[in-house]
Amino acid sequence: MKMKELFGSLVFNEAVMAERLPAETYREFLKCIDEDRALSREAADVIAGAMKDWAIEKGVTHYTHWFQPMTGMTAEKHDSFITPAPGGSVTMEFSGKELIKGEPDASSFPSGGLRATFEARGYTNWDPSSYAFIKDGILCIPTAFCSYTGEALDKKTPLLRSMEALDKQAQRVLHLLGRTEIHKVFPTVGAEQEYFLIDKKDYDNRKDLKYTGRTLFGARPPKGQELEDHYFGPVKPRVVSYMKELDEELWKLGVLAKTKHNEVAPSQHELAPVFCTANIAADHNQLTMEIMKKVASRHGLVCLLHEKPFAGVNGSGKHNNWSLSTDTGLNLLNPGKEPYNNSQFLLFLCAVITAVDEYQDLLRISVASAGNDHRLGAHEAPPAIISMYLGGELTSILSCIAEGKPYCGTARNDLETGVHILPKFHKDSTDRNRTSPFAFTGNKFEFRMPGSSLSISEPNLVLNTIVADVLMRFADKLEGAMDLAGAIREIIRETYTEHGRIIYNGNNYSSEWVSEAKRRGLLNLKNTAEAIPYFSTEKNIGLFVRHGIFTEAEIHSRQEIFYENYCKELSIEALTMLDMARRNILPAVLRYSSDLAEASARFTNIGLESICAADAAKVGALYSEGITRAEALDVKLNKAHKYGLSARAAKIYAKEVIPAMEALRKVADEAELITEATYWPFPTYGQILFGVI
Ligand code: ADP
Ligand code: MG
Repeated sequence: MKMKELFGSLVFNEAVMAERLPAETYREFLKCIDEDRALSREAADVIAGAMKDWAIEKGVTHYTHWFQPMTGMTAEKHDSFITPAPGGSVTMEFSGKELIKGEPDASSFPSGGLRATFEARGYTNWDPSSYAFIKDGILCIPTAFCSYTGEALDKKTPLLRSMEALDKQAQRVLHLLGRTEIHKVFPTVGAEQEYFLIDKKDYDNRKDLKYTGRTLFGARPPKGQELEDHYFGPVKPRVVSYMKELDEELWKLGVLAKTKHNEVAPSQHELAPVFCTANIAADHNQLTMEIMKKVASRHGLVCLLHEKPFAGVNGSGKHNNWSLSTDTGLNLLNPGKEPYNNSQFLLFLCAVITAVDEYQDLLRISVASAGNDHRLGAHEAPPAIISMYLGGELTSILSCIAEGKPYCGTARNDLETGVHILPKFHKDSTDRNRTSPFAFTGNKFEFRMPGSSLSISEPNLVLNTIVADVLMRFADKLEGAMDLAGAIREIIRETYTEHGRIIYNGNNYSSEWVSEAKRRGLLNLKNTAEAIPYFSTEKNIGLFVRHGIFTEAEIHSRQEIFYENYCKELSIEALTMLDMARRNILPAVLRYSSDLAEASARFTNIGLESICAADAAKVGALYSEGITRAEALDVKLNKAHKYGLSARAAKIYAKEVIPAMEALRKVADEAELITEATYWPFPTYGQILFGVI
């Protein structure tokens, strides 16, 4: 199929609407999206009818309200279009009411206590700004999901609320700067997605991968990622055909899959889309993850989206590229040729700097999960400390303004390679800093802390809200100012002196940074259990309530869900470890030790008995240590279970269960290295990552 016919062929997009809707309805639709208004029931009826006819032509019989509950996954309940008609037949119907509102049973989704006080009934509510699409022969309608009384039970609702808050405050600032032609400001997002691809046969033979998405045991193979021969190396033919099909499937769904390459770790890859409006980017990222898994299964592969599927090699993240666009086509974070004289850019930049410093805790929480705890602070990912990279040029512009000194900027440089045949181009004024968790990369910020399986709604709703909050303060100041230019300079000065501590252009992986950050008073929330309590501080409740993102009840319910998810995930991991250790690994180790002991008796005549006996004793000792450590883990896990899924339990998981898991893993991995290969009950890292038995 040609690209033109392929791209978006399963999407009820504006081109399809323009063709199939009466001109008046189409106009109303566009106007409502533009002005954040709800559609009339009449228009919804017409759109529903057109959507249904379009879907039926493509062989579709069912529709679903596609939503993103707090499990982090997507949910759907399928309904058919059939409606009984006289004479025992049926017609295919789909009304505006059915398009706008669904009623899934909310009791099967996490509600963090909201369910105890309210009815179990929940509503899904059409998000007309994200196109409907056909997936697996079902018409999927992107929706928000809330309780009977309107509390958000999903990830989309607060994201949409945060986009409205940001739009409102950003417009206030722009209008004060005289940019009255701008009527909408929206966040743009491009989420780079990392993933692992492994053979289905290996996956099927690992209980840990099946239950938890990551390996809980596994000794380091002789080779890891040290040669970096996988990164940007040629892609294996099997993976090439996977990536080709993945691109096509995503293109059909209107997802702008753009870049694909190998990543640093063996078997690791990345896909990056072209950026788009934040809520659509979030929907598309959820779809991308789902399609990645589905296409893998057609190629005898399994796609792992866990943040740390393998110890000892890099884990997977999701770089969240974020910027602000206007309906007039401006990128508000584009510094232009003379950032020094671009006060509009500097104001928005200062809003981000202030927001990131004041709400480090919320940004940290927005990426917190048991899986991501393995990455943050490890060597391949930024540390758990939030800081911001601006590069030398912007930092010195801000410091000059703050100190009232003139800025003598560096002129643009051409890249000089010494080879004259190569075309010349301007190099960016600052080099990239790959170690920063929140880096300015030319005309956008790249938030590098999100884990690979995370819904990007979380970090983006936080980013939008915290920046909206600071813009609100800026607008208040500018509104009352007699001298606008002076007020802007004052805001820049204040930002740099009060929040400059968040700017760090050095190596975030260094140990000096950890002590320097401490000296600066920056937060270092090392794990999820430490981070979650900050979600409901007075400061953060104030923020969310002020902008209508969450009510206080919603904040507490979300906090409870964070604890629940963390505890559940770790409980499953610990139980899986105990199962694998006691029922597979330790019995195999014992069998090997016993065979060595038997060999020792058999080999007395040829002088091997003492060496076999010594080996038997060495392996036997690991068996015995394994039994002891499994027992210790069991005790810690039972202690955590006593406190259910509470904050107290989360602390026990972080402080006691995880160390006990690591201790058990250590002996098992040691045993793996000295146990004859055929005894080992699970495919090893060597086999999974390199195909070596
Ligand atoms: P890398 O981080 O690997 O160097 P790029 O700079 O090419 O990659 O871009 C990474 C991602 O940033 C892409 O998904 C791209 O669409 C996205 N991006 C580019 N411009 C913007 C923007 N204005 N807003 C949001 N995302 C953007
Ligand atoms: Mg990147």
